[in-house]
Amino acid sequence: MKRIAVMTSGGDAPGMNAAVRAVVRKGIFHGLEVYGIKRGYAGLISGEFERMELSSVADIIHRGGTILRTARCPEFKNPKVQQEAAELLKAKGIDGIIVIGGDGSFMGAKALSNLGIPTIGIPGTIDNDIPCTDYCIGFDTAVNTAIDAINKIRDTATSHERTFVVEVMGRDAGDIALAAGLAGGAESILIPEIETNLDVVIHRLLQGQKRGKLHSIIVVAEGVASGFEIGKIIEERTGFDTRVIVLGHIQRGGSPTSFDRILASRLAAKAVDLLMANEGGKMVGIVNNKIVATDIDEALKQKHTLDKEMYELAKVLSI
Ligand code: ADP
Repeated sequence: MKRIAVMTSGGDAPGMNAAVRAVVRKGIFHGLEVYGIKRGYAGLISGEFERMELSSVADIIHRGGTILRTARCPEFKNPKVQQEAAELLKAKGIDGIIVIGGDGSFMGAKALSNLGIPTIGIPGTIDNDIPCTDYCIGFDTAVNTAIDAINKIRDTATSHERTFVVEVMGRDAGDIALAAGLAGGAESILIPEIETNLDVVIHRLLQGQKRGKLHSIIVVAEGVASGFEIGKIIEERTGFDTRVIVLGHIQRGGSPTSFDRILASRLAAKAVDLLMANEGGKMVGIVNNKIVATDIDEALKQKHTLDKEMYELAKVLSI
């Protein structure tokens, strides 16, 4: 293995830059040539390669987004396009690739590995919905952004004795809602993995009022329903002054937390080690604070599961 490449693909996540930096620096440390591929699989098929030096990744560890940019590229699902990409990589003498992204990006990585280009996936998605890893890069930062918003909302909620519904990201996975709801002290947390019972939510709000509670915060993952829908029902059924906040894309940006920077650095270092051992078709992850590698095939067969114990705890603590 002499020449490797790194790219970011799918939705961006804070900490992707820290991972790119670690791939480049660890690769160069071991005497490899490292290339950056711009705009994910779109840049791969159009040949947007750039030689990365130590200085190319200077001053990026603290930045959100990705200096390599990212893009969706549906054409890459086409086997003919994958074949052409593999040929282009071989022509450029690239011996292995590291793809930082979500499960869609991992499918592309698997296809390249099957075509003889060893490829390693690094989980980078704020949704935290990739199996075989406890955490994905960007999740911790997104949760902290949501908590920061909830803290601020709490101040005004108390002053005005209002109910706030905070909609966070998470179409299929409730990880952000659960973590932000637990850490932010939300009264109710609505997530796609658990059937929503608004009667229970409303009962809790009314009980809270009887006990003299000044404000309430309900965190809802976007995959459950729109925050506005939930807010409207709550206001109609309780008569409480209810406001809705959709956090949206601010959860995707911002400077990564120390947790995400360290996770990104550790996962990237393992990915380079695997390529140097000529291994491909794997994803790296963190399980019980150990960095591990799993076959992408195996990971894609599994389903990300929510921490049910944490959900039950959040319910108990918001009684
Ligand atoms: P994420 O990686 O965050 O899950 P996407 O699902 O949008 O994001 O996937 C990112 C990119 O990965 C897609 O634009 C496409 O280029 C590639 N990709 C997705 N699914 C496949 C697939 N089944 N086969 C090959 N490439 C894929």
